[in-house]
Amino acid sequence: MCDCESEWEKRERSIFMNNTVFCAECRKDVKVITKEVLFKRTLKDNEYTFTGFEAYCGECGSPIYVPEIEDNNLKLLYDAYRNL
Ligand SMILES: [Zn+2]
Repeated sequence: MCDCESEWEKRERSIFMNNTVFCAECRKDVKVITKEVLFKRTLKDNEYTFTGFEAYCGECGSPIYVPEIEDNNLKLLYDAYRNL
């Protein structure tokens, strides 16, 4: 095991362990793949950059909206906001 695992990866895994999400393309529940993405979001007139996640269908690769991921990205944005 590599010990370079980031905190984000641990957080990500805790959210998505054993989770399936409905994919509109596949028309069934599928496993979700998450990718780290660098987001730029504007909050109170300042632009913040942070590493968040986007979810994709594990079978067809289509982007999937996952509320937990959006919530997590919002938390990461506020973390970035508080750290400045
Ligand atoms: Zn799919």
